[in-house]
Amino acid sequence: MPKNIKVKYISKIAHKVHEPARTPEETQAKKFARTPQLPRGMKDLLPYETPWWDLLYGRVASLARSYGFDKIETPVVEETALFVRSIGKDTDIVEKEMYPIADAEGEKLVLRPENTASIVRAYINHGMLNLPQPVKLWYWGPMFRHERPQSGRYRQFHQLGFEILGDESPIVDAELILIAYNLFKNLEISVSIQINSIGCVQCRPAYHQSLIAYYRTVRHEMCEQCRKRLQKNPLRALDCKEPQCQPLKKEAPHFVDYLCEPCKEHFMSVLEYLDELGLPYFLNHSLVRGLDYYNRTVFELYVSGEEEGSQSALGGGGRYDGLSEILGGRPTPACGFAQGCERVIAKIKEIGSVKLSEPVFHVFVAQLGNQAKSKALKLFENLRAADINVAHNLSKNGLRPQLEIANKLGVRYSLVIGQKEVQDETIIIRDMESGVQEIIGFNKAVSDLKKKLGLS
Ligand code: AMP
Repeated sequence: MPKNIKVKYISKIAHKVHEPARTPEETQAKKFARTPQLPRGMKDLLPYETPWWDLLYGRVASLARSYGFDKIETPVVEETALFVRSIGKDTDIVEKEMYPIADAEGEKLVLRPENTASIVRAYINHGMLNLPQPVKLWYWGPMFRHERPQSGRYRQFHQLGFEILGDESPIVDAELILIAYNLFKNLEISVSIQINSIGCVQCRPAYHQSLIAYYRTVRHEMCEQCRKRLQKNPLRALDCKEPQCQPLKKEAPHFVDYLCEPCKEHFMSVLEYLDELGLPYFLNHSLVRGLDYYNRTVFELYVSGEEEGSQSALGGGGRYDGLSEILGGRPTPACGFAQGCERVIAKIKEIGSVKLSEPVFHVFVAQLGNQAKSKALKLFENLRAADINVAHNLSKNGLRPQLEIANKLGVRYSLVIGQKEVQDETIIIRDMESGVQEIIGFNKAVSDLKKKLGLS
């Protein structure tokens, strides 16, 4: 027996000895084992959906370029402390919705629930303070929140966002609101802007006092969560989604009445800029955005007529002048916004006025027989490299089904290679409109077609 056969034989036996024999039931069970399912709250983006995503991405990238923003990508995994310190301990995101990552080295990591904190971290880590200010950045990527899945809410969702770091002037707030507004205008979605100011560390204590005093008078009508949070962070009561708390918000004191002079002046300037730009906005006194890092201007965008219930906001943002210092950086005033991509895409499809552009093909390469397949692939490659929009389908065998595809695609010419053409080193060019056919040399195909299509 040759040596290698013996080794093979022994290893086969050894394999048999080590693997415990399966009972017929086990074999059957393995065969019909449940296919792993998509985890709850996650979403596959299927081929019929990805063109919409590409469309949105293209529009956002071009808008960002025109307003002078550079793209940044930060990792989806960050230190837990980044979000605890920035978003705040008493928020739903930090309390209930973060996805912790088991890290072998014991480091406390999570999947990012949002991107602003990561961008400020990157700004500090990479000394972007030394760049000419302001630094204008945009991003696009997946975020993770362990929320109760419901329509329009996912556990992995995507956000696009714009941030301007290093400028406290109110024109920055107005420019960002304008960009957010124009993104929707560009997508033919009519939106309304809701805006408020939540002041700064100077004016917040007086407003908190007044808010606590008001909510004490209606304590028995509040939801349990709000009652618990009233002392720790009374602003959170204004952000509550519980139906029983909605009428209470309407009667609550307004932050704008408690703003200190600099905050009042800042907010008035933002509104004046918006007036000058002709942007339609509404003051929403209970808009506070649920995250601790916000100060001064906060805003959200809603589809016109769908303003009720903040679950339906397409996006929102605001100022976060103190975030850099909270994370150990130098004082860096900043402002930004994020939009939920899933919601925006659902809206574009629902409205239906933006259309996907269909790919345009000028030429179809058809083949008959195995040898012709490889010639056809080569021809396809030559045409593609010469920037001719060419289609093919090497899995079909008969000529008829291939010409049917060519017809559906609306090509001007089909190029056919059969057994005879392989031998003669030729191809047949068929004019799909007139049905007229001619034979040319294989090597002349590219130049001939360029001429016929007016590309040379
Ligand atoms: P936020 O910063 O939480 O206001 O989120 C900004 C935008 O992201 C929202 O207005 C939504 O469009 C979107 N968004 C937030 N959470 C989710 C989620 N769980 N699923 C889908 N989109 C979301």
